[in-house]
Amino acid sequence: MKKGFCYLVGTGPGDPGLVTLRALELVENADVLIYDYLASGSLIERAKTEAEMIYVGKKAGNHTLTQDKINSLIVAKAREGKSVVRLKGGDPYLFGRGAEEAEELARAGIPFEVVPGITAAMAASTYAGIPLTHREHASCVTFLTGHEDPAKIESGIGWAALVASQATLAIYMGMDRLEGIVARLMEHGMPGETAASVVQWGTLSRQASVYATLETLVKACAEQEIKAPAIIFLGSVVNLHGRLDWFQQKPLHGQTIVITRTRKQASRLKKLLIEEGAAVLELPTIRIVPEPGSRDWNSVFPKYDWIIFTSPNAVEHFFALFCAAYDLRELGSCRLAAVGPATAEMIRKLHLRVEFQPTEYSADSLGKEWNFLGPGKILYPCSDLVEDKLQTVLEGKQWKVERLPVYKTIPETEDRLGTRRNLQESGADWIIFSSASAVVNFTRLKLSLDWGRCRIATLGPLTSEAVRSAGLKVMLESPESRMEVLVEALVQFKE
Ligand code: SAH
Repeated sequence: MKKGFCYLVGTGPGDPGLVTLRALELVENADVLIYDYLASGSLIERAKTEAEMIYVGKKAGNHTLTQDKINSLIVAKAREGKSVVRLKGGDPYLFGRGAEEAEELARAGIPFEVVPGITAAMAASTYAGIPLTHREHASCVTFLTGHEDPAKIESGIGWAALVASQATLAIYMGMDRLEGIVARLMEHGMPGETAASVVQWGTLSRQASVYATLETLVKACAEQEIKAPAIIFLGSVVNLHGRLDWFQQKPLHGQTIVITRTRKQASRLKKLLIEEGAAVLELPTIRIVPEPGSRDWNSVFPKYDWIIFTSPNAVEHFFALFCAAYDLRELGSCRLAAVGPATAEMIRKLHLRVEFQPTEYSADSLGKEWNFLGPGKILYPCSDLVEDKLQTVLEGKQWKVERLPVYKTIPETEDRLGTRRNLQESGADWIIFSSASAVVNFTRLKLSLDWGRCRIATLGPLTSEAVRSAGLKVMLESPESRMEVLVEALVQFKE
């Protein structure tokens, strides 16, 4: 039998960009994934479809599994001969009880490896414009917990020494005892005017921060409703935030945006939105699958003058089917046209030349601007649902057009990460639709969203039309059917 192995892996504070390459590699290869409340959703998404996913998350006071049970679970799964990846928020050994899990593995004789992660205090401070050390402010930093083991009789924290050290303090898990912590520090001589900050949900789009002084911190947190998970920072380095803040100033900071493209297509839009500071929820409503149809591919070639592509999907699926039947060279002298830049890019990736692209990115423009002299033959690989408008226009110009369905759109039924539940519970600020079929399939999910808060943006007029037919209101329509333009419009949007 295969010998089991366990990896204790730090996932960082939440921003998926702060996950290590090693963590990603291990998640992608895991047989079993055991993860927590704070572990990043987009990391889990990278697991194999057949991986077993076990959620053992704890929100304070709402333990799904006790630590003992988690320890036994890890051991049991590894004993089944599996590669178990236990994900831990931040760094496994910093206030994460990772050491207890590693000790249990050592006791059980199960081989293990520990992968460090970026700990919350380091990341949250940086994202809040607070350098933990600075030549003119602090040459020492202390990480401590505000929530010690309740079974301990005496506090292990030497408050007097802490205050005397003049170190920047970063206090984990301190929010439900904030008043007591402040009182202890003041009793031991920390001046009431010491600069103080609390950073909640550090590194995520929902990051919120309070800047105050030791004396005013409790009141400031109450007023701004800042709660766990958060880190408390104390020391004059906090004062630098005014100049060093970079994260919370991003234009879409704090906004949750839902994207409804297929999982594969979503990533570029997602990247653009995250770059501007948004939190992105992926809710794929459709999936694109090949449609080989009943066509005898051997009769398709070689007899066309042009092949026109009106979407990257068409390029991908056409060439997959073509290359299953032919060698790429059998395209011969057939010329290629693309509707827009993303489609052209897909073609160029195959080291093929795009010989025609309209000035505006739409099938209408392609038809209008097409001024090659006919007669001739065009192959038009497309989806099963494509309209015949383009075909009619081209035929009016003496070209014979043969439509060839190479893919179709089907409803996405999977929701492995619980995005639908998440969206229903927490809501969103925007939902982006980029095709009419995404709208139709979204309405089929019958989610009840708060349309007072959640606004709808679309990539173009056809999609907007579908939104309106579904009885919903379009708040923003991208002036051009390109994702960069849509994201820019969201950034500029003012109610
Ligand atoms: N091992 C983790 C800490 C686990 S203890 C690490 O190295 O980061 C849990 C505490 O970490 C929370 O109560 C909070 O104080 C802090 N924390 C975790 N993620 C955080 C985040 N994104 N922003 C602010 N604090 C966070």
